[in-house]
Amino acid sequence: MTLVEPSVGSAAETFRSTNPASGTLVAEFPVADEAAVTAAVARARVAAAAWAALGFDGRKERLAAYRGYLARRMHELADLVHRENGKPHADAVLEITLAVDHLAWAGAHARKTLGPRSVHPGLLAANHQAVLEYQPLGVVGVIGPWNYPVFTPMGSIAYALAAGNAVVFKPSEFTPAIGAWLAEAWSAAVPDAPDALQVVTGLGPTGTALCRAGVGKIAFTGSAATGRKVMATCAETLTPVLMECGGKDAMIVDDDADVAAAADAAVWGAMSNAGQTCIGIERVYATAAVYDSFVAAVTDQVAALRPGSDDGASYGPMTMPSQTEVVQRHLDDAAATGGRAVVGGSVDGGYVAPTVLLDVPETSSAVQEETFGPTITITRVADAEQALELANGTSLGLGGSVFAGSAKRGMDLARRMRSGMTSVNSVITFASVPALPFGGVGESGFGRIHGEDGLREFTRAKAITRQRFPLPVALMSFGRPAKAADALARVMGLVHGRHR
Ligand code: NAD
Repeated sequence: MTLVEPSVGSAAETFRSTNPASGTLVAEFPVADEAAVTAAVARARVAAAAWAALGFDGRKERLAAYRGYLARRMHELADLVHRENGKPHADAVLEITLAVDHLAWAGAHARKTLGPRSVHPGLLAANHQAVLEYQPLGVVGVIGPWNYPVFTPMGSIAYALAAGNAVVFKPSEFTPAIGAWLAEAWSAAVPDAPDALQVVTGLGPTGTALCRAGVGKIAFTGSAATGRKVMATCAETLTPVLMECGGKDAMIVDDDADVAAAADAAVWGAMSNAGQTCIGIERVYATAAVYDSFVAAVTDQVAALRPGSDDGASYGPMTMPSQTEVVQRHLDDAAATGGRAVVGGSVDGGYVAPTVLLDVPETSSAVQEETFGPTITITRVADAEQALELANGTSLGLGGSVFAGSAKRGMDLARRMRSGMTSVNSVITFASVPALPFGGVGESGFGRIHGEDGLREFTRAKAITRQRFPLPVALMSFGRPAKAADALARVMGLVHGRHR
């Protein structure tokens, strides 16, 4: 099998995306240069004005047409995702389903979250109406990864569009055909606003050009290393950024946890999508009381998994060939520092065997850095407090999971986990709840997609006061009487002075 990285065509004007399982060509796309990106953003600026003018109802109707289109062509898109990203068709269907659900939520909740509302004007402005509303930024640039090429960018695209922005989307160079498909679907489903969602294809420099194109915000999803570069470029023009970066998510298994359920969830969280999930489980901390039975249940399940590209495969090849080198480095480091693979541990071409690692020291890169492969470390801890301390011990903090018998204990551990999202007694569930915000802490990034926070992320708050009637004494006027300040001080004394 030949693995091919996206290659730039001979005239340096096109690049090719390939099937990671076979190396065969999926499609060839133009490398959008600075001029092409600037032109797309200029078209988007015009489209943004018309799109914003449609109002919440007009946009909701069109977002519904888009999700209807995606839902009707679910298998067509899933087939393309299978060919270009490598994941099993059924997993692609699940991914598209989540994206469609988020489109529905964003459209339905934009008015309530962002529309004008009166707030209490307070004592000093009691004669005014105070109005708060969230206005669109104009054009939002979305830079996406390849691991969830539909769901991940849609977490920004759906919410940015619902908030009244036009979007220019730069898909990963590993999944450009999926990005192009999404934009063509938009034009077909929403023919009266085709430029409200456009795609520019290319590699890193195309993303850089988008950062410099004068957009209202860049929503970046990718590695922390690239995130730093994106921030540096955006700093040149003070373009605001949303950073959705990597993770090293941990699961805590407490004394009274349902061990079978925890093992099942850990295996899915670690191995599905070939472990290429930003919120996948990469580390498990199991208390001494459950460690042996948990390891036995996990190894049993993992031994039955089979990577491949056929319909029956548990997961596909690594989408980005060079990621196998990172996985291999982590496996080597784990072995060199006293860790052992009780299942798997090998890399074969583009496929990584499902791997369970025990006794890996906390200092190992396999525990500290994002592996992004179908591997999991399981570490024995004295109790859940020690588990939490170790779980919180990396620079990343995206999601995580807690398995505990007591709901109170589970919630307490979840609250204290240093991450943006935690699921108790399941994995990854938070991503499927459109009302919940999605995002990380530390090197996992900042800002939020999904939910009300995700809608507000693509807006600017606008504050308006409207005087309803004048006061007999205007405090903010050079014409105010000399005694007004004394009167004000007396009122403040009455209202606030009693507090000690
Ligand atoms: P990546 O950082 O290599 O690339 C992401 C995108 O940035 C691509 O479109 C790429 O072309 C573009 N890019 C590269 N260099 C650029 C530059 N200098 N300026 C502007 N854009 C540039 O990431 P990837 O390998 O595509 O994706 C995997 C990573 O994404 C993992 O770390 C994963 O955890 C993370 N991820 C995070 C989330 C989340 O929501 N937090 C979701 C999915 C993936």
